[in-house]
Amino acid sequence: MAYRALKGTKDVTPNEAHIWHHLESTMRSVTARFGLREIRTPVIEQTELFLRGVGDTTDIVQKEMYTFKDKGDRSITLKPEGTAGAVRAFIEHNLYNDALPQKMYYLNCPVFRYERPQAGRLREHHQFGVEVFGSESAYTDAEIISLALTVLREVGIDDLSVNINSIGCSECRPKYHEALKAYFAPHLDEMCPLCKDRFERNPLRLLDCKEEKCKAIAAGAPRMIDYLCPDCDDHFNKLQSALSALSIPYAIDSGIVRGLDYYTKTVFEIISNRIGAQGTVCGGGRYDKLMEMVGGPSLPGVGFGMGMERLIILLESYQKLPEANGRCDVYCLCMGDGEGSLTLANRLRQRGIRADFDPTVRSMKAQMRYAEKLGAKLVAIVGEDEKAKGVVLLRNMATREQTEVSLDGLSDAILKQL
Ligand code: ATP
Ligand code: MG
Repeated sequence: MAYRALKGTKDVTPNEAHIWHHLESTMRSVTARFGLREIRTPVIEQTELFLRGVGDTTDIVQKEMYTFKDKGDRSITLKPEGTAGAVRAFIEHNLYNDALPQKMYYLNCPVFRYERPQAGRLREHHQFGVEVFGSESAYTDAEIISLALTVLREVGIDDLSVNINSIGCSECRPKYHEALKAYFAPHLDEMCPLCKDRFERNPLRLLDCKEEKCKAIAAGAPRMIDYLCPDCDDHFNKLQSALSALSIPYAIDSGIVRGLDYYTKTVFEIISNRIGAQGTVCGGGRYDKLMEMVGGPSLPGVGFGMGMERLIILLESYQKLPEANGRCDVYCLCMGDGEGSLTLANRLRQRGIRADFDPTVRSMKAQMRYAEKLGAKLVAIVGEDEKAKGVVLLRNMATREQTEVSLDGLSDAILKQL
């Protein structure tokens, strides 16, 4: 074949689209119950937004962004995550003037990261994400964790771990940075070049390195939660009691620091107990300084991103993929040149019925096979006899029963049987 999809990108064919629709409708239903509204932002943004809004010591900015110059010599970047765009739009449209807190979600947001493609790691993936602006309460953190779990449970996955951590704030983190530096300094020679840079610029990121050597060293590092200031400590305690009140089991994982530089306090991940390295289906946290960092008012925020493709991998492994729901309900089979089938199908479609026909007018047998392939529940047959009598023969594909119905009463007879 001449052309192939780019490495790390994936098509969704018509055979798989129903899986996505199933996820999307569950996500819309759950977000509506939690009082969220949708936000959509462009795929491209000024590169500067992500340098500021994601942070230039993150893997995303240092290694993974799709950045290019447009014809006007502007630096443009394909979204490497969803939060920065949502925050930019929130500020640009003065949405902070509306009642706070404001809760929003995005669905199927395309996310581009130049990663080494492997199972569950794509160069273009899609995220379902949630952002809540204007609440500094730990109850909001608990609320969105509960939202994520509700979505996951309603698509059929409940074998999950919620791992939480706190990475403190500008008050307590500097002290922790010192503790981290003191711990890592004697190991620095054995660590990767990026970690040497992290050591200088953002020691917290030393905990996030994916290199085995570095990971092993990071395992013994001091924990941020032992350095929290009273405010952050209180927030973390409130989060834990809220999760308990919601009957959400959780574990504290002091290794979670998350991808963005401007996270504060809560960070969390939701991980499948069944799948290994790529089992992280959802990651999020609080970013109380982000809005200000990108030129907006000083408003707290908290959110998460959930990888749609990772969720589908989970559904596959839990054998929870939804069944495809046939392509039509009524197949129209009229004798003649096909115009009869075309007009009959059209008539039913106008009545809200999923109807189809064979424009190429194959043999009766071939058409019945086609009807079965389409998943038709009923076949409306108009042969010479029926045509003369002005009736339609309605065949139920499951029971094989056939009933004669008047043309006028056809839609009602169909709706009764579907
Ligand atoms: P990881 O540590 O696996 O690289 P991350 O911290 O980069 O994850 P986030 O930025 O938190 O991931 O993205 C939110 C979610 O998006 C992840 O939990 C995951 O489900 C999904 N995701 C992230 N990167 C990819 C990717 N390259 N391909 C597919 N899904 C991804
Ligand atoms: Mg990553």
